Amino acid sequence: MSMLSKPNRGFLLDVDRNPILHAILKKTFYEQFCAGENAAETKATIKQLKDMGFSGVIMTYAKETVFDHRTNTQQGLGVAAVDAEKNGEKMDPRLAHCANIEAWRKGTLDTVEHLEAGDYLAVKLTGAGPAVNEAFSKGDLPPTQMIDAMSEICRKCKERNVRVLVDGESQHFQWGILRLTLDLMRTFNRDGYAVVYNSYQAYLKSMSNTLAAHLAAAQKEGFTLGMKVVRGAYMASDERALIHDTKEDTDNAFNGISQGALKRTIGEFGTTIPFPSVNLFLASHNRESVMAAHQLHQQRTQAGLPTVPVGFAQLHGMSDEVSFSLLALKGSDGSPQVYKCSTWGRMGECLAYLLRRAIENRDAVLRTTDEYNALKAELKRRLKGGFSFATQK
Ligand SMILES: Cc1cc2nc3c(=O)[nH]c(=O)nc-3n(C[C@H](O)[C@H](O)[C@H](O)COP(=O)(O)OP(=O)(O)OC[C@H]3O[C@@H](n4cnc5c(N)ncnc54)[C@H](O)[C@@H]3O)c2cc1C
Repeated sequence: MSMLSKPNRGFLLDVDRNPILHAILKKTFYEQFCAGENAAETKATIKQLKDMGFSGVIMTYAKETVFDHRTNTQQGLGVAAVDAEKNGEKMDPRLAHCANIEAWRKGTLDTVEHLEAGDYLAVKLTGAGPAVNEAFSKGDLPPTQMIDAMSEICRKCKERNVRVLVDGESQHFQWGILRLTLDLMRTFNRDGYAVVYNSYQAYLKSMSNTLAAHLAAAQKEGFTLGMKVVRGAYMASDERALIHDTKEDTDNAFNGISQGALKRTIGEFGTTIPFPSVNLFLASHNRESVMAAHQLHQQRTQAGLPTVPVGFAQLHGMSDEVSFSLLALKGSDGSPQVYKCSTWGRMGECLAYLLRRAIENRDAVLRTTDEYNALKAELKRRLKGGFSFATQK
């Protein structure tokens, strides 16, 4: 996967041009984690997920750029950018109209068309190409064309009652992404709920300070902070020193932020400073974290204690056992709200995403054992049920 993700591959290693490679990857890997390469395939996958009982779907357009700190190189969209340049498209970041931003805007608006009220759009802002990424890498806001594109996307989502989760990406780009998303929250999260969410990567040592600054902005300026909390997916490419030293530290940070938000107490917020309006979204496959968060939310709601609205999500093709365990707890109040998050796009566009799933699944052997045991128990239960049913007859 790592080799296939590199730019400028020859015909044999190009997943979009080599039909044999394309067919093998599609059946073995792509269909496990991705929704489809076109509108018809994507629509069918969304229907399948909703039929399973999920509260909705989170859909992403796959185009993105990953910055590898070790080699100082960019992967992913770099390929498309070179192709566009070859075709004579405008690539100069200073130009008023950038073809890459326009292609990303169109792809993202197409994604919104697949979604219904209650669904979520997830966006990877680095998919918009070099001009945007250059600004993000300096912690700056992107060109006006991109700000306008995001405003149009958020407006359209709000009209359709779809919410927007802005993905957390490589640290190289993340300061600019956080900044733009906070500005969008200032505009769109003014009606007592979050249309736009930032992703807070709990594995970062800097995350508690970032979150404190964003809670302060929401509290002072009176908007709802959309908080999608994740552990973080870029350990293989980001600077190691920026990430907590141990998995336990990351776990404590993730659980501390999620449980703090549910209790409406994080640092000074909720004690000496009033806790602002927050909508929480926990994106995790970690059973202990999500179950503990759901229990805490239930306890506080039942006891009439203050808390915040919360949603849960797992990735399409991963940890179904966690998703279905949460769904099985669904009460008459409709909680927990559980979503599956999928990605659509040509196979070449999905490679960086698929590479992260490959790495994560290599680390997820323990979870696979849990799922295997759960499947065995379910098979036993069904066989037993079938047997007693047959003997009753
Ligand atoms: C719906 C959804 C959306 C997501 N969106 C994003 C996103 O926008 N941005 C993003 O970055 N990620 C995103 N992720 C991925 C997520 O950040 C995690 O990489 C992944 O889900 C695994 O973490 P976990 O919470 O499921 O739990 P676990 O599997 O228990 O934790 C694994 C994680 O712990 C951390 N970790 C592992 N070893 C160490 C170590 N030695 N030291 C410190 N930390 C360690 C890493 O973050 C690793 O990914 C998303 C996940 C989901 C389910």
